[in-house]
Amino acid sequence: MISIGLGQLITIVMLIGVSLVCMLWFHSFWREQRREARRRRIAIQCRICGCNYAIPRRADRVTRCPACGSLNERGGLPQI
Ligand SMILES: [Zn+2]
Repeated sequence: MISIGLGQLITIVMLIGVSLVCMLWFHSFWREQRREARRRRIAIQCRICGCNYAIPRRADRVTRCPACGSLNERGGLPQI
């Protein structure tokens, strides 16, 4: 049997907890990056009125804005 002191046990539990929190943070950060990239792929911002609208994957390259009716080219939203 492995014998460890109370101080070592507390240190091990703290390291496991900190590692778990870091892994959860990295996972949520990675998931949010993927979600944002997908959102930018399927969204268009109208160049006339600034309205954001979603487009289907197989839509034409040029779509019509549902708010003002102007034509917009598919290319994704610009990076901030
Ligand atoms: Zn518009």
